[in-house]
Amino acid sequence: MKLILLGAPGAGKGTQAEVICNKFSIPAISTGNIIREALKNGTEMGLKAKSYMDEGKLVPDDVVIGIIQERLAKDDCKNGFILDGFPRTIPQAEALDAMGVEIDRVVSIEVPDEKIVERMSGRRVCEKCGASYHMLYKKPAKEDVCDACGGALIRRKDDAPETVQDRLKVYHEQTEPLKDYYAKSGKLRTVEGQEEVADTTRLMLAALEA
Ligand code: AMP
Repeated sequence: MKLILLGAPGAGKGTQAEVICNKFSIPAISTGNIIREALKNGTEMGLKAKSYMDEGKLVPDDVVIGIIQERLAKDDCKNGFILDGFPRTIPQAEALDAMGVEIDRVVSIEVPDEKIVERMSGRRVCEKCGASYHMLYKKPAKEDVCDACGGALIRRKDDAPETVQDRLKVYHEQTEPLKDYYAKSGKLRTVEGQEEVADTTRLMLAALEA
């Protein structure tokens, strides 16, 4: 299964990608996580992306297209994958088509902007392994400690309220048109993001079969 998850930042794409990738034994690929990892390792690409990311802007298309091209060529993508956070612009979607990648389904998780702002303030990520948590909806067993690896949980710089507004604007202007792009080929399904992670997962799994 080759799946794309669409949705505003904070709509729950990352969390759903983690659940679904385990269920189908396919990798979840997050361009955001790949860029953050590159930044942590001080690579040239990471440094180039930093200023865009910190300001809530999109990293240039050629950079992310290069990242995805390299990642999808790896062996573990043979039986499918979930793309979380890519494509985010029409040129990125066109580049994916030009690579010959046949997407099966595109699921857009819909959450109103007001809810997104509220949710983002509680979002935390593991500094070490990138796993995501939420102080209301997906609490770690021990406060501020990652269940998976014991790393420290932090708030991403780009989850600060002012930056979230900028990211929502970018989402509506540049990413939302992708819904039309994939609706035209009949691949788009939309799901209302629920308060409980498991409820959204149930709707997502139904959407994958519809
Ligand atoms: P995310 O973790 O998916 O919210 O991504 C965090 C940040 O990484 C975004 O705000 C962008 O600056 C950058 N980024 C991630 N994926 C993309 C993409 N497909 N195109 C452009 N920028 C991206």
